[in-house]
Amino acid sequence: MKQYKVGIVGATGMVGQRFITLLENHPWFEITALCASSRSAGKPYSQAIKGWAMDTPMPEKVKDMVVFDAKADVEKVASMVDFVFCAIELDKEETKAIEELYAKAECPVMSNNSANRGTDDVPMIIPEINGDHAEVIEFQKKRLGTKRGFIAVKSNCSLQSYVPAVHALKEFGPKKVLACTYQAISGAGKTFETWPEMVDNVIPYIGGEEEKSEKEPMKIWGKVEGGKIVNATEPSITAQCLRVACQDGHMAAVFASFEKKPTLEEVKACWANFRGEPQELDLPSAPKQFLHYYEEENRPQTRLDRMTEGGMAVNIGRLREDSQYDIKFVCLSHNTLRGAAGGAVLMAELLAAKGYFDR
Ligand code: NAP
Repeated sequence: MKQYKVGIVGATGMVGQRFITLLENHPWFEITALCASSRSAGKPYSQAIKGWAMDTPMPEKVKDMVVFDAKADVEKVASMVDFVFCAIELDKEETKAIEELYAKAECPVMSNNSANRGTDDVPMIIPEINGDHAEVIEFQKKRLGTKRGFIAVKSNCSLQSYVPAVHALKEFGPKKVLACTYQAISGAGKTFETWPEMVDNVIPYIGGEEEKSEKEPMKIWGKVEGGKIVNATEPSITAQCLRVACQDGHMAAVFASFEKKPTLEEVKACWANFRGEPQELDLPSAPKQFLHYYEEENRPQTRLDRMTEGGMAVNIGRLREDSQYDIKFVCLSHNTLRGAAGGAVLMAELLAAKGYFDR
């Protein structure tokens, strides 16, 4: 496999730090540029960050790398790398503008931001589900006027557990899904030190999260038609999202109804047998088993199970029949690994394997 040089835009943030730890020993990708705001630019990485929030030490290699200005240094960074990962905390228009600057500088962007998730020629990829949406990139390049520059996004972290669990049951025709999520504080880029109000607390509101949790799956389940992604219309999804006092790991309590009601055994068999392109291609960050089912009635648990298969698997448990819906279950995924940086690295591996970063 070829080697690719990569940049991280938003390298000082929570997701940026995850990218750094995930790429430390990556077999295909090597970090060659780190970027953040003008506040951090010009400083060595170890001095630019407000705090190292990862549980493994900061890799030696990045400590002295001088941070670039994500906006002012686009051309320079684009000349140093084959593509960038992007995870920045800015408003939608500014984020879109920065992502387009990189794409137009012929530098592909693997984005964690929500700004371009609604753009209909930007694929939003969960690699096990809709890698085929990469077809739309050719049409996006025409719009941008680029040869190799494009933007691909990963979806919101809230839905990374229940969308794969429902997707694996597609043959039964999912009609209605209700999901209540219990989301960790790292999802807001925070720790208990930086967000003391969250100690011993639950906050029943996460701005914009319910809308994303309901809408984004429809794009993931959509089809490429006429140079854009046309959203699916089923299943209808309703979501309620709560912030809970956990550092990492988003849980979801899910209820679902189908055209043809599956038996509990059929559901478990679908989850056990589900494989996607990352497993077929044996991509470096792919979990061997994407969906893990637990028979114990008190699993999955956030602290015990969020790191299954390096935090890249989805954990499912408590499958039962329901009195209002066909079935109900609980699922869990690691929000900054599968739900953010890890999901973006896996998407990049898939696009690399398909030749999208070749020159
Ligand atoms: P964060 O910890 O607050 O980090 C924000 C990053 O953005 C920092 O590197 C910061 O650089 C940079 N930044 C801020 N203003 C900038 C500017 N004007 N120009 C360039 N860079 C700027 O946020 P995060 O949690 O990592 O989230 C980053 C993105 O990922 C967000 O869009 C978020 O919605 C998304 N996301 C997060 C998660 C999660 O679980 N945390 C999951 C999925 C998606 P400075 O240090 O220089 O200010």
